[in-house]
Amino acid sequence: MSNYDDQNVFAKILRGELPCTKVYEDEHTLAFMDIMPQIDGHTLVIPKYPATTLFDLPPELAGHLLNSVQKVGKAVQVAMQHKGIVIMQLNDKSAGQTVFHLHFHVMPTSLGALSKQSHAHVMGDPAVIQQCADKIKAALAAL
Ligand code: AMP
Repeated sequence: MSNYDDQNVFAKILRGELPCTKVYEDEHTLAFMDIMPQIDGHTLVIPKYPATTLFDLPPELAGHLLNSVQKVGKAVQVAMQHKGIVIMQLNDKSAGQTVFHLHFHVMPTSLGALSKQSHAHVMGDPAVIQQCADKIKAALAAL
């Protein structure tokens, strides 16, 4: 990938150089809790492939990624007892992207609630993040 910076935070998480609160992993994808959640249960789903934006992902991997987004989204819905799930995905700094490895945000909230707060601003309470992760993992196991 020509413009892919392999020193980005998610690349380091994928290589095991940085920790994450993992909720799901398969051959092509990894899902973990956002460290600065915009709402309790805020989860990120990423491909293992080094794509900076959605447009850098080989189309044959798109299905795998969307499948994981769907799975994690359903689990977040159950775990956080919130039917409304916002799936957000930013491409390029000019769109607000801050970590340059493709990711989908899965958030049990509404567009209205999201618009009232800043994106990736305040560190979450690790204990609360862990509690949410445990609930999401349990919901995934029951899918
Ligand atoms: P974006 O602004 O769409 O690129 O989203 C990047 C997201 O990654 C933000 O919601 C951050 O809170 C989140 N984030 C940054 N560093 C980490 C990390 N080490 N572990 C988990 N999430 C992170």
